[in-house]
Amino acid sequence: LAKLQPGVRSSLERIVGAEHLRVDPDALASYGVDALGQGHPADLVVLPGSTEEVAAILRLCNDARVPVVPRGAGTGYTGGAVPVRGGVVLSLERFTHILEIDIANLLAVVEAHVITGDLQAAVERVGLFYPPDPASLSQSTIGGNIAECAGGPRAFKYGVTRRYVLALEAVLATGEIIHTGSKAVKNVVGYDLTQLIIGSEGTLAVVTKAVVRLVPRPAQQATLGASFDSIEAAVSAIAALLAAGALPATLELIDADTLAAVADYAGRALAPPGTAALLIIEADGLPAGVAEELSRVESACRGAGATRIETAVEAAERAELWRVRREMSLAVRALAPLKINHDVVVPKGRIPALFALIERLRREHGLRIPCFGHAGDGNIHVNIMVDPANASAIAAARRAERTLFEGVVALEGSITGEHGIGFSKAPYLSLELSSAEIALMKRVKQAFDPNGILNPGKIFPD
Ligand SMILES: Cc1cc2nc3c(=O)[nH]c(=O)nc-3n(C[C@H](O)[C@H](O)[C@H](O)COP(=O)(O)OP(=O)(O)OC[C@H]3O[C@@H](n4cnc5c(N)ncnc54)[C@H](O)[C@@H]3O)c2cc1C
Repeated sequence: LAKLQPGVRSSLERIVGAEHLRVDPDALASYGVDALGQGHPADLVVLPGSTEEVAAILRLCNDARVPVVPRGAGTGYTGGAVPVRGGVVLSLERFTHILEIDIANLLAVVEAHVITGDLQAAVERVGLFYPPDPASLSQSTIGGNIAECAGGPRAFKYGVTRRYVLALEAVLATGEIIHTGSKAVKNVVGYDLTQLIIGSEGTLAVVTKAVVRLVPRPAQQATLGASFDSIEAAVSAIAALLAAGALPATLELIDADTLAAVADYAGRALAPPGTAALLIIEADGLPAGVAEELSRVESACRGAGATRIETAVEAAERAELWRVRREMSLAVRALAPLKINHDVVVPKGRIPALFALIERLRREHGLRIPCFGHAGDGNIHVNIMVDPANASAIAAARRAERTLFEGVVALEGSITGEHGIGFSKAPYLSLELSSAEIALMKRVKQAFDPNGILNPGKIFPD
């Protein structure tokens, strides 16, 4: 790959106009970091205003072999939008329009930089629902959600982003504009390029537009908090409520260390003293169904030994509970300057084994590791809190991280369920994928991006 030459820079300026280039050092730095502050400055930031401009930028950079890094809101956790090899950051920030909400066909057509929460609010106003709900939804973009295949609490019942993408407009590294999928909900014409691009972390194509699938807005939602004095009891409550036929929208688990952090940060205790796990369970649907589901959930939790159960049906109570849940990342961040955040996944029955492993890591390495996450999916956010100025703590955290990843793979889980590989997890790819699988993925990458200009240094270890 090549350095950005002055000739390429002036051609980029001709494509987008000087007012849509950023070259000052502050902008180059701020467009080069992710949510954890992992960063590398871009050589140039370009803000195209149309798909044709995106295509022209890619064609030019491909010819000049200059790296291009697509960027949404920069809320990623694994450095996906960080230009680790320099080059051009291509921000989609001018792609902000909801182009269509089609009530009859339960779909919306959106540009890449529509904020997730704005799409949700817009479709809810007309009685529809866009389920994917990453905790970052007030900032993250649909393009970034597609590139990372974002999930959230509601994934338990509704599934992650990939279930809600019917079609994409995207631009290949070589500048061709492609349209994958269609507005029809069934489509088996050829390989499923839509699904291949989803979760590809900006390494296969730049997404400019998406057709997303919607569902009717649930008429009612109600939330129940259940506290337990052990992780095992909480997990057995989950098994019991599912066996009782309940299918809640969310099944979130918060551990004792996180509860303590929230109490400090938000000034309120979410659970009684001695709680090892708090489950936040939300039922949604038609009112009679919600009432029946909550009653089954409640008796399953009681049967599993819940020490306290609280129900929030009013919108304000629910909103407050979910606000605290969304701020959990911030509460945990207040514990130490660096949060090494891992979103590991195990089959949900093995959550107690995962927590036993985390307890061992806390003990052996003397680390604070608050955990919370989507228990219904077995997807737990494991936050290793350290002071980056403390070299021995960092070394201990790195050792703990490797043991964690080896442990989840041994439990037949995955090292990331939502945040992707980016560059920070690339060294661990081979813990989960064989060399044949990695080689096949590299051949796919080569087919999409023959010169390797699109988001280089991501997913695959050097
Ligand atoms: C407080 C907080 C809470 C979070 N909670 C969750 C959560 O609950 N669930 C979850 O899944 N994630 C969560 N995240 C992580 C993050 O918000 C998601 O990964 C999100 O999808 C990233 O969107 P973004 O617009 O910020 O993308 P960016 O961070 O800008 O980019 C992420 C990746 O997508 C690529 N990309 C961005 N736009 C495009 C495009 N148009 N075309 C091609 N590639 C593109 C980038 O190159 C990069 O590799 C959280 C983050 C924070 C800070």
